[in-house]
Amino acid sequence: MTDLILFWHRRDLRISDNIGLAAACQKSQKVIGVFCLDPDILERDDIAPARVTYMMGCLQELQQRYAEAGSQLLILHQNPSQGIPTLADTLNAKAVVWNRDVEPYARTRDRTVQDALEEKGIAVESFWDQLLHAPGEIRTNSGNPYKVYTPFWKNWKDQAKAAPAESLKNGEGLTETEQDVVKKVGVMELPTAKELGFTWDNSLMLEPGEKAAKQRLEEFCDRAIDDYQHQRNLPAIDGTSRLSAALKFGAIGIRTVWQATQTAIERSRSDETRDGIQTWQQELAWREFYQHALYFFPELASGPYRDTFENFPWDNNQTLFQAWCEGRTGYPIVDAAMRQLNQTGWMHNRCRMIVASFLTKDLIINWQWGETYFMQKLYDGDLAANNGGWQWSASSGMDPKPLRIFNPASQAQKYDPDGEYIRQWLPELSSLDTKDLVTGKISSDECSSCGYPEPIVDHKKRQKEFKQRYQQQKG
Ligand SMILES: Cc1cc2nc3c(=O)[nH]c(=O)nc-3n(C[C@H](O)[C@H](O)[C@H](O)COP(=O)(O)OP(=O)(O)OC[C@H]3O[C@@H](n4cnc5c(N)ncnc54)[C@H](O)[C@@H]3O)c2cc1C
Repeated sequence: MTDLILFWHRRDLRISDNIGLAAACQKSQKVIGVFCLDPDILERDDIAPARVTYMMGCLQELQQRYAEAGSQLLILHQNPSQGIPTLADTLNAKAVVWNRDVEPYARTRDRTVQDALEEKGIAVESFWDQLLHAPGEIRTNSGNPYKVYTPFWKNWKDQAKAAPAESLKNGEGLTETEQDVVKKVGVMELPTAKELGFTWDNSLMLEPGEKAAKQRLEEFCDRAIDDYQHQRNLPAIDGTSRLSAALKFGAIGIRTVWQATQTAIERSRSDETRDGIQTWQQELAWREFYQHALYFFPELASGPYRDTFENFPWDNNQTLFQAWCEGRTGYPIVDAAMRQLNQTGWMHNRCRMIVASFLTKDLIINWQWGETYFMQKLYDGDLAANNGGWQWSASSGMDPKPLRIFNPASQAQKYDPDGEYIRQWLPELSSLDTKDLVTGKISSDECSSCGYPEPIVDHKKRQKEFKQRYQQQKG
């Protein structure tokens, strides 16, 4: 009889270029996939319906891919520390294999599951898959993890990167008896996001699943990547990859992504194009930098990195926070961005930086409020990237620049000069002069006739106020 290996999927929802899955397939032809819908995650208060909808779509396609490859993806809805060992035991699995994660919750969970499996005499093997370089592979000369991005990038880019891993194929599925047995330990039909209590009726920026992610990568590398350097900061333009959710859930393998950038470099004909591609590679390195940071400094997940922000006198005004969440601050670029987030579950990177600066430096509201709100809405919401982005914007993180304050009007003038993005998300302002729109200088009469709020704070005053408090805290 062929040995059965259980492969536990978590944020690697694909069968191609999956390091752990490929390793499991080398050991046995009978590799059965499992995904555990974890109540401890789904019942948290920062779960975005759009994100669950994307994830469930990925799982649906993953089930099909398993079936096409002759195997099965089983679904559990229970605590993994009980569900995975019980399932493995029931199936007499020789081993359980998974890919490792950097998040503190996942690391604790994995240790618990590993202990429970080993107690039952079932072997465990885990791999690094979601990063081109695992935590610990990129270190300073003195052997420490990096705290600053630029030297990290310089070291990271020069290291050899692995090629994509082999896909699952010609697998062997469960016997009929095994299929009956697994039902008794909770294996179920894949529910929809709605059945789990998450409703998202709008479309998603990227269709879920491996196929759509690969197609998007190809389109992006055929076209926008060459000009990425110039277009990436313009929110009105479709100039970025929009692969963030696919990367978060592993609908695409990071080695496949890297290989696509190498192919793009090989066919590029100018230094300018190569610079564009390298700028995109730098974004992939930011993703890895924040994941390494979270791995080595897990305390980042629960508070500021810099002491100055430990007891910062935030105003934390609920009314102002509500206005920010709803996109009703009277600052058009901020409001356009928040409406994009609320309606699509995604926001352009430039706008994420603008609204984060506005929440922390203009409204003087704790960045953690914004961090949680983003997680409640983003379909690509990811602890390492989101926390990194918020701490960078709040100036509370590892970024060496002491204080970073964005002026919403200057940002809009520079990055949305024709007011195209603002008009798209604030249709009530579409007939205004572009100059008024981007500078935010809208008269009281115009505000009231458009039903648009006047600015809820004065940027200049608040910026001064924030700086004063910051200096006092610094002592
Ligand atoms: C306050 C704030 C919160 C953020 N929250 C998240 C989040 O929850 N999830 C998330 O994936 N990204 C987050 N980002 C980073 C960035 O905004 C998004 O990754 C990017 O907008 C996604 O669009 P894209 O896929 O078109 O990116 P592209 O520009 O095409 O970049 C390619 C990929 O690189 C990675 N990447 C790009 N920029 C960053 C960055 N600054 N930090 C980390 N990874 C990056 C992403 O995986 C992205 O898909 C946040 C940034 C800020 C300032």
